[in-house]
Amino acid sequence: MNSENFRKIEPYVPGEQPQDRDRVKLNTNENPYPPSPYVLRAAKEMNASALNLYPDPEARELVQSIADYHGVGFDNVFAGVGSDDVIAMCFMAFFNSEKPILFPDITYAFYDVWAELFKISYEKIPLDKNFTIVKEDYFRENGGIVFPNPNAPTGICMGLDDIRAIIEHNRDTAVIVDEAYIDFGGESAADMINEYDNLIVTRTFSKSRSMAGMRIGYAIADKALIAQLKTIKNSYNSYTLSTAAIKLGSAAIKDEEYFIETVAKIVKTRENTAQRLKKLGFSMTDSKSNFLFVTHEKMRAAEIFERLKEKRIYVRYFNKPRIDNYLRITIGTDAETDALIAALTEILEGAK
Ligand SMILES: *Cc1c(COP(=O)(O)O)cnc(C)c1O
Repeated sequence: MNSENFRKIEPYVPGEQPQDRDRVKLNTNENPYPPSPYVLRAAKEMNASALNLYPDPEARELVQSIADYHGVGFDNVFAGVGSDDVIAMCFMAFFNSEKPILFPDITYAFYDVWAELFKISYEKIPLDKNFTIVKEDYFRENGGIVFPNPNAPTGICMGLDDIRAIIEHNRDTAVIVDEAYIDFGGESAADMINEYDNLIVTRTFSKSRSMAGMRIGYAIADKALIAQLKTIKNSYNSYTLSTAAIKLGSAAIKDEEYFIETVAKIVKTRENTAQRLKKLGFSMTDSKSNFLFVTHEKMRAAEIFERLKEKRIYVRYFNKPRIDNYLRITIGTDAETDALIAALTEILEGAK
């Protein structure tokens, strides 16, 4: 056919997924630890012979487990195929104004892709020079607001008072707070859904719950918003979550002890890694997530990125305005941090 008739879109580019085992992978913010033993047990007990049937389109078992965990109603939770799926549905469901939606200039790179895909007008609001979101910039007419808290790839967290102020100034439009990294140190806005019928909080099992491979995410919001999300989903694909995702996800969220323990390990490794990187001459933002956002005084980020890759250590580099001299490094195990620090020490030898 004539490719003129193809829809033109610049896709989101995810971090590399090298398939070899002999490498250190610190580029896509996955959890270095396996999922909870509850998940491994549920996987063994799963009845594969029932896979001839479609899954429950409402994913009730999973949605109820999530609702119980947050102490909200079944009708306040919407689950999807990773939070990417859930946030994309939110864009379709709530960003229906002629006015532009607002999000930071430096943020999760999928937002502008979805806005383009769904033909939603948008405006990027610059972070200040310290990479902080300035709440007052969002006190103006708009078609909706979305931002991650903590922000990505900066890791910087906003306080609940500031988030409340943004919601208060925008009661007629949707405010989506993308809490992909909230478990690593921030304070969640989830409790505020009872106060504000324009707030949507999204979460994922991909990071703090070690389940990126299963693709589970969810939104928590006022009942009317959740009903609207279901309407959109049922206008597109009724069976988003697989039988496996429903079973294993609900097993995962029941293991509070394992969750607390893994998150604590990652936070501890993050603080330790930050100290060691500072000794090597790096400076960084105050990250409350499972990654560090770092820059070096002597060597360009692009070069460090390439040199690390030669040593089979993968981190993330964004060749984008304002952040093209930064690296985003996922927090791995302590052994992976040791490998990273050893490699960086060698690479930076030459830069002295
Ligand atoms: C990782 C991430 C997501 C999406 O994660 P899923 O794996 O699709 O659940 C959403 N927002 C931000 C800011 C992320 O970093």
